[in-house]
Amino acid sequence: MHDVIIIGAGPAGLSTALWCDELGLDTLVLEQAEQIGGQLHRVHNPIENYLGVKARNGDEFVDLFANSIEAAEFDLWMEVVISSVDLKAKRVSLASGEILQSIAIVIASGVSPRELGVPGEKEFVGKGIIESGTRDRKLFAGHDVCVVGGGDAAVENALLLAEVCPTVTLVHRGKKLRARREFRERLQSTHCITVFTEAVLTRIIGDETVQAVEIHRKAGLKPFQLAVRGVLIRIGVEPNTQFFREQLETDEKGYIKVSSTQETNVPMVFAVGDVSNPLAPTISSAVGAGATAAKVIAARLNAGQ
Ligand code: NDP
Repeated sequence: MHDVIIIGAGPAGLSTALWCDELGLDTLVLEQAEQIGGQLHRVHNPIENYLGVKARNGDEFVDLFANSIEAAEFDLWMEVVISSVDLKAKRVSLASGEILQSIAIVIASGVSPRELGVPGEKEFVGKGIIESGTRDRKLFAGHDVCVVGGGDAAVENALLLAEVCPTVTLVHRGKKLRARREFRERLQSTHCITVFTEAVLTRIIGDETVQAVEIHRKAGLKPFQLAVRGVLIRIGVEPNTQFFREQLETDEKGYIKVSSTQETNVPMVFAVGDVSNPLAPTISSAVGAGATAAKVIAARLNAGQ
Protein backbone atom coordinates (compact mmCIF):
# COMPACT_ATOMS: atom_id res chain seq x y z
CA MET A 1 0.00 0.00 0.00
CA HIS A 2 1.43 3.36 -1.09
CA ASP A 3 0.19 6.84 -0.30
CA VAL A 4 0.50 7.89 -3.94
CA ILE A 5 0.95 6.10 -7.25
CA ILE A 6 2.05 8.39 -10.08
CA ILE A 7 1.62 7.17 -13.65
CA GLY A 8 4.30 8.71 -15.86
CA ALA A 9 7.82 10.06 -15.29
CA GLY A 10 7.83 13.17 -17.48
CA PRO A 11 8.19 16.67 -15.99
CA ALA A 12 4.71 16.56 -14.39
CA GLY A 13 5.09 13.11 -12.84
CA LEU A 14 8.59 13.77 -11.54
CA SER A 15 7.66 17.14 -10.09
CA THR A 16 4.72 15.50 -8.29
CA ALA A 17 7.02 12.76 -7.01
CA LEU A 18 9.66 15.19 -5.78
CA TRP A 19 7.07 17.19 -3.88
CA CYS A 20 5.36 14.07 -2.47
CA ASP A 21 8.77 12.88 -1.27
CA GLU A 22 9.49 16.23 0.34
CA LEU A 23 6.11 16.10 2.07
CA GLY A 24 6.83 12.64 3.50
CA LEU A 25 4.44 10.61 1.35
CA ASP A 26 5.17 7.03 0.36
CA THR A 27 5.34 7.45 -3.40
CA LEU A 28 5.68 5.09 -6.34
CA VAL A 29 6.20 6.30 -9.92
CA LEU A 30 5.40 3.95 -12.82
CA GLU A 31 6.96 4.66 -16.22
CA GLN A 32 6.49 2.55 -19.32
CA ALA A 33 9.56 3.90 -21.17
CA GLU A 34 13.22 3.03 -20.62
CA GLN A 35 14.03 6.62 -19.69
CA ILE A 36 12.47 9.37 -17.61
CA GLY A 37 11.54 12.64 -19.37
CA GLY A 38 8.54 11.81 -21.57
CA GLN A 39 8.05 14.22 -24.48
CA LEU A 40 11.25 16.07 -23.58
CA HIS A 41 13.16 13.52 -25.63
CA ARG A 42 11.37 14.89 -28.70
CA VAL A 43 12.52 18.46 -28.09
CA HIS A 44 15.63 19.10 -30.18
CA ASN A 45 15.62 22.89 -29.95
CA PRO A 46 17.11 24.99 -27.14
CA ILE A 47 14.79 25.41 -24.15
CA GLU A 48 14.98 29.03 -23.08
CA ASN A 49 11.58 29.80 -21.58
CA TYR A 50 11.82 27.84 -18.32
CA LEU A 51 12.56 30.38 -15.63
CA GLY A 52 16.05 30.08 -14.20
CA VAL A 53 17.27 27.22 -16.37
CA LYS A 54 18.40 26.94 -19.99
CA ALA A 55 19.19 23.80 -21.91
CA ARG A 56 20.44 23.06 -25.42
CA ASN A 57 17.64 20.52 -25.93
CA GLY A 58 15.21 18.22 -24.13
CA ASP A 59 17.80 15.57 -23.37
CA GLU A 60 19.92 18.10 -21.51
CA PHE A 61 16.82 19.11 -19.55
CA VAL A 62 16.18 15.46 -18.67
CA ASP A 63 19.74 15.27 -17.27
CA LEU A 64 18.91 18.22 -15.02
CA PHE A 65 15.78 16.40 -13.82
CA ALA A 66 17.83 13.28 -13.14
CA ASN A 67 20.15 15.36 -10.93
CA SER A 68 17.17 16.87 -9.11
CA ILE A 69 15.66 13.52 -8.17
CA GLU A 70 18.92 11.73 -7.36
CA ALA A 71 18.65 12.16 -3.61
CA ALA A 72 14.88 11.69 -3.43
CA GLU A 73 13.53 8.52 -1.86
CA PHE A 74 10.46 7.79 -3.94
CA ASP A 75 10.30 4.51 -5.84
CA LEU A 76 10.66 4.75 -9.61
CA TRP A 77 9.84 1.67 -11.65
CA MET A 78 10.84 1.83 -15.31
CA GLU A 79 9.56 -0.17 -18.31
CA VAL A 80 6.36 -1.01 -16.47
CA VAL A 81 3.47 -2.39 -18.50
CA ILE A 82 0.15 -1.47 -16.95
CA SER A 83 -2.71 -3.79 -17.85
CA SER A 84 -5.54 -1.96 -16.10
CA VAL A 85 -6.28 0.79 -13.63
CA ASP A 86 -9.28 0.93 -11.31
CA LEU A 87 -9.42 4.59 -10.36
CA LYS A 88 -12.22 4.33 -7.79
CA ALA A 89 -10.45 1.50 -5.97
CA LYS A 90 -7.01 3.15 -6.52
CA ARG A 91 -5.71 -0.15 -7.85
CA VAL A 92 -3.17 -0.56 -10.65
CA SER A 93 -2.65 -4.00 -12.22
CA LEU A 94 0.56 -4.70 -14.08
CA ALA A 95 1.11 -7.12 -16.95
CA SER A 96 3.57 -8.94 -14.65
CA GLY A 97 0.59 -9.91 -12.46
CA GLU A 98 1.44 -7.53 -9.65
CA ILE A 99 -1.41 -5.51 -8.15
CA LEU A 100 -0.58 -2.15 -6.59
CA GLN A 101 -2.75 -0.19 -4.21
CA SER A 102 -2.63 3.43 -3.08
CA ILE A 103 -4.66 6.14 -1.40
CA ALA A 104 -4.21 8.63 -4.25
CA ILE A 105 -3.43 8.25 -7.94
CA VAL A 106 -1.80 10.94 -10.04
CA ILE A 107 -2.12 10.56 -13.80
CA ALA A 108 0.86 12.12 -15.56
CA SER A 109 0.76 9.99 -18.67
CA GLY A 110 1.34 12.84 -21.12
CA VAL A 111 0.58 12.87 -24.82
CA SER A 112 1.80 11.01 -27.91
CA PRO A 113 2.38 12.32 -31.43
CA ARG A 114 -0.69 11.98 -33.64
CA GLU A 115 -0.21 9.72 -36.64
CA LEU A 116 -1.37 10.56 -40.13
CA GLY A 117 -2.28 6.94 -40.85
CA VAL A 118 -1.15 6.89 -44.49
CA PRO A 119 0.75 4.15 -46.35
CA GLY A 120 4.50 4.63 -45.98
CA GLU A 121 4.36 6.51 -42.67
CA LYS A 122 5.62 3.54 -40.65
CA GLU A 123 7.56 1.76 -43.41
CA PHE A 124 9.90 4.69 -44.06
CA VAL A 125 10.83 5.45 -40.46
CA GLY A 126 14.59 5.95 -40.59
CA LYS A 127 14.42 5.91 -44.42
CA GLY A 128 13.12 9.36 -45.20
CA ILE A 129 10.71 10.14 -42.37
CA ILE A 130 12.22 13.20 -40.71
CA GLU A 131 11.92 13.02 -36.92
CA SER A 132 13.07 16.58 -36.27
CA GLY A 133 13.98 19.58 -38.41
CA THR A 134 16.74 20.47 -35.98
CA ARG A 135 18.24 17.07 -35.40
CA ASP A 136 17.95 15.68 -38.93
CA ARG A 137 18.65 18.73 -41.03
CA LYS A 138 22.20 17.70 -41.92
CA LEU A 139 20.83 14.41 -43.24
CA PHE A 140 18.36 16.17 -45.53
CA ALA A 141 20.48 19.17 -46.53
CA GLY A 142 20.38 19.63 -50.31
CA HIS A 143 17.20 17.55 -50.73
CA ASP A 144 13.59 18.54 -51.41
CA VAL A 145 11.31 17.76 -48.49
CA CYS A 146 7.67 17.89 -47.45
CA VAL A 147 6.20 18.89 -44.08
CA VAL A 148 2.65 18.03 -43.00
CA GLY A 149 0.68 20.13 -40.50
CA GLY A 150 -0.39 23.70 -39.88
CA GLY A 151 0.54 24.36 -36.25
CA ASP A 152 3.65 25.82 -34.60
CA ALA A 153 5.54 22.54 -34.80
CA ALA A 154 5.04 22.01 -38.54
CA VAL A 155 5.78 25.60 -39.52
CA GLU A 156 8.81 25.91 -37.22
CA ASN A 157 10.23 22.72 -38.70
CA ALA A 158 9.51 23.88 -42.27
CA LEU A 159 11.44 27.10 -41.53
CA LEU A 160 14.37 25.15 -40.08
CA LEU A 161 14.52 22.81 -43.07
CA ALA A 162 14.25 25.73 -45.50
CA GLU A 163 17.66 26.89 -44.27
CA VAL A 164 19.30 23.81 -45.84
CA CYS A 165 16.82 22.31 -48.36
CA PRO A 166 16.27 23.66 -51.91
CA THR A 167 12.48 23.34 -51.57
CA VAL A 168 10.10 22.68 -48.70
CA THR A 169 6.44 21.92 -49.39
CA LEU A 170 4.09 22.48 -46.46
CA VAL A 171 0.85 20.52 -46.73
CA HIS A 172 -1.98 21.63 -44.45
CA ARG A 173 -5.51 20.26 -44.38
CA GLY A 174 -7.16 23.50 -43.26
CA LYS A 175 -7.74 26.85 -44.97
CA LYS A 176 -5.60 28.80 -42.52
CA LEU A 177 -2.43 27.91 -40.69
CA ARG A 178 -2.82 27.68 -36.95
CA ALA A 179 0.84 28.53 -36.26
CA ARG A 180 1.72 31.73 -34.38
CA ARG A 181 2.00 35.00 -36.27
CA GLU A 182 5.79 35.23 -36.02
CA PHE A 183 6.17 31.85 -37.76
CA ARG A 184 3.55 32.70 -40.41
CA GLU A 185 5.29 35.97 -41.23
CA ARG A 186 8.65 34.25 -41.58
CA LEU A 187 6.97 31.66 -43.80
CA GLN A 188 5.77 34.36 -46.19
CA SER A 189 9.25 35.77 -46.61
CA THR A 190 10.89 32.36 -47.10
CA HIS A 191 10.74 31.84 -50.85
CA CYS A 192 11.73 28.20 -51.05
CA ILE A 193 8.66 27.15 -49.03
CA THR A 194 5.46 26.38 -50.94
CA VAL A 195 2.30 26.12 -48.86
CA PHE A 196 -0.58 23.92 -49.99
CA THR A 197 -3.63 24.60 -47.84
CA GLU A 198 -6.78 22.46 -47.96
CA ALA A 199 -4.51 19.68 -49.07
CA VAL A 200 -3.98 16.17 -47.75
CA LEU A 201 -0.95 13.93 -48.00
CA THR A 202 -2.37 10.53 -48.93
CA ARG A 203 0.70 8.33 -49.50
CA ILE A 204 4.45 8.25 -49.01
CA ILE A 205 6.13 6.52 -51.93
CA GLY A 206 9.58 4.99 -52.36
CA ASP A 207 11.63 1.82 -52.56
CA GLU A 208 14.53 1.66 -50.14
CA THR A 209 13.98 5.29 -49.12
CA VAL A 210 11.32 7.96 -49.68
CA GLN A 211 11.14 9.18 -53.30
CA ALA A 212 7.84 11.06 -53.46
CA VAL A 213 4.56 11.88 -51.76
CA GLU A 214 1.04 11.83 -53.09
CA ILE A 215 -0.99 14.96 -52.40
CA HIS A 216 -4.73 15.42 -52.79
CA ARG A 217 -5.65 19.09 -53.15
CA LYS A 218 -9.35 19.23 -53.82
CA ALA A 219 -12.15 16.71 -53.73
CA GLY A 220 -12.91 15.52 -57.25
CA LEU A 221 -9.42 16.29 -58.57
CA LYS A 222 -6.85 13.56 -59.07
CA PRO A 223 -4.05 13.33 -56.51
CA PHE A 224 -0.61 14.28 -57.81
CA GLN A 225 2.89 13.14 -56.90
CA LEU A 226 5.68 15.38 -55.69
CA ALA A 227 9.29 14.18 -55.69
CA VAL A 228 10.80 14.59 -52.20
CA ARG A 229 13.46 12.75 -50.21
CA GLY A 230 12.11 13.51 -46.76
CA VAL A 231 8.74 13.85 -45.01
CA LEU A 232 8.18 15.41 -41.61
CA ILE A 233 4.78 14.93 -39.98
CA ARG A 234 3.73 17.29 -37.16
CA ILE A 235 -0.01 17.12 -36.77
CA GLY A 236 -0.31 17.56 -33.05
CA VAL A 237 -0.61 15.16 -30.19
CA GLU A 238 -3.18 12.96 -28.45
CA PRO A 239 -3.57 12.48 -24.70
CA ASN A 240 -2.55 9.10 -23.32
CA THR A 241 -5.82 8.35 -21.57
CA GLN A 242 -6.69 4.93 -22.94
CA PHE A 243 -6.77 3.33 -19.46
CA PHE A 244 -8.89 6.03 -17.91
CA ARG A 245 -11.36 7.38 -20.48
CA GLU A 246 -14.35 5.39 -19.28
CA GLN A 247 -13.68 6.14 -15.61
CA LEU A 248 -13.40 9.91 -15.46
CA GLU A 249 -14.48 13.09 -17.14
CA THR A 250 -12.53 14.17 -20.21
CA ASP A 251 -13.10 16.80 -22.88
CA GLU A 252 -14.13 15.82 -26.40
CA LYS A 253 -10.47 15.24 -27.34
CA GLY A 254 -9.79 12.95 -24.40
CA TYR A 255 -7.91 15.44 -22.20
CA ILE A 256 -8.69 14.86 -18.52
CA LYS A 257 -10.77 17.57 -16.86
CA VAL A 258 -9.37 18.82 -13.55
CA SER A 259 -10.25 21.39 -10.92
CA SER A 260 -7.85 24.13 -9.77
CA THR A 261 -6.34 21.59 -7.36
CA GLN A 262 -5.60 19.22 -10.30
CA GLU A 263 -8.21 16.78 -9.00
CA THR A 264 -10.39 14.89 -11.45
CA ASN A 265 -14.07 14.14 -10.88
CA VAL A 266 -12.98 10.91 -9.13
CA PRO A 267 -11.99 11.76 -5.52
CA MET A 268 -8.25 11.39 -4.78
CA VAL A 269 -7.44 10.92 -8.46
CA PHE A 270 -5.41 13.79 -9.89
CA ALA A 271 -4.11 14.58 -13.36
CA VAL A 272 -1.10 16.78 -14.13
CA GLY A 273 0.87 17.89 -17.16
CA ASP A 274 -0.06 17.71 -20.84
CA VAL A 275 -2.67 14.96 -20.31
CA SER A 276 -4.88 17.51 -18.57
CA ASN A 277 -3.63 20.72 -20.14
CA PRO A 278 -4.36 21.10 -23.86
CA LEU A 279 -4.15 24.91 -23.57
CA ALA A 280 -0.63 25.30 -22.22
CA PRO A 281 1.35 22.08 -22.66
CA THR A 282 4.59 23.52 -21.30
CA ILE A 283 7.27 22.21 -18.95
CA SER A 284 6.59 25.08 -16.56
CA SER A 285 2.87 24.30 -16.30
CA ALA A 286 3.55 20.59 -15.86
CA VAL A 287 6.02 21.17 -13.04
CA GLY A 288 3.67 23.62 -11.31
CA ALA A 289 0.69 21.28 -11.60
CA GLY A 290 2.74 18.49 -10.02
CA ALA A 291 3.57 20.67 -7.01
CA THR A 292 -0.11 21.62 -6.61
CA ALA A 293 -1.32 18.01 -6.72
CA ALA A 294 1.30 16.86 -4.20
CA LYS A 295 0.46 19.61 -1.73
CA VAL A 296 -3.26 18.92 -1.96
CA ILE A 297 -2.75 15.17 -1.49
CA ALA A 298 -0.47 15.73 1.52
CA ALA A 299 -2.99 18.10 3.10
CA ARG A 300 -5.81 15.57 2.60
CA LEU A 301 -3.80 12.71 4.06
CA ASN A 302 -2.73 14.83 7.03
CA ALA A 303 -6.36 15.71 7.62
CA GLY A 304 -7.07 11.98 7.69
CA GLN A 305 -9.12 11.87 4.52
P1 NDP B 1 -1.28 21.75 -33.00
O1 NDP B 1 -2.33 20.95 -32.36
O2 NDP B 1 -1.10 23.17 -32.60
O3 NDP B 1 -1.49 21.73 -34.58
C1 NDP B 1 -1.69 20.53 -35.24
C2 NDP B 1 -1.89 20.81 -36.72
O4 NDP B 1 -2.01 19.55 -37.40
C3 NDP B 1 -3.14 21.62 -37.00
O5 NDP B 1 -2.88 22.58 -37.98
C4 NDP B 1 -4.14 20.55 -37.49
O6 NDP B 1 -4.98 21.01 -38.51
C5 NDP B 1 -3.22 19.53 -38.13
N1 NDP B 1 -3.80 18.19 -38.03
C6 NDP B 1 -4.33 17.58 -36.95
N2 NDP B 1 -4.73 16.33 -37.25
C7 NDP B 1 -4.46 16.16 -38.56
C8 NDP B 1 -4.64 15.07 -39.45
N3 NDP B 1 -5.17 13.91 -39.05
N4 NDP B 1 -4.24 15.23 -40.73
C9 NDP B 1 -3.69 16.40 -41.15
N5 NDP B 1 -3.47 17.46 -40.34
C10 NDP B 1 -3.86 17.35 -39.06
O7 NDP B 1 0.06 20.89 -32.77
P2 NDP B 1 1.60 21.26 -32.82
O8 NDP B 1 2.30 19.95 -32.72
O9 NDP B 1 1.94 22.16 -33.93
O10 NDP B 1 1.84 22.05 -31.46
C11 NDP B 1 1.51 21.46 -30.21
C12 NDP B 1 1.80 22.46 -29.09
O11 NDP B 1 3.21 22.69 -28.99
C13 NDP B 1 1.17 23.83 -29.31
O12 NDP B 1 0.76 24.33 -28.09
C14 NDP B 1 2.30 24.65 -29.88
O13 NDP B 1 2.15 26.03 -29.63
C15 NDP B 1 3.50 24.07 -29.12
N6 NDP B 1 4.74 24.27 -29.89
C16 NDP B 1 5.52 25.32 -29.57
C17 NDP B 1 6.68 25.55 -30.27
C18 NDP B 1 7.54 26.67 -29.86
O14 NDP B 1 7.21 27.33 -28.88
N7 NDP B 1 8.62 26.95 -30.56
C19 NDP B 1 7.12 24.69 -31.36
C20 NDP B 1 6.22 23.61 -31.61
C21 NDP B 1 5.06 23.42 -30.91
P3 NDP B 1 -6.22 22.01 -38.20
O15 NDP B 1 -5.59 23.37 -37.99
O16 NDP B 1 -7.03 21.92 -39.45
O17 NDP B 1 -6.89 21.47 -36.99
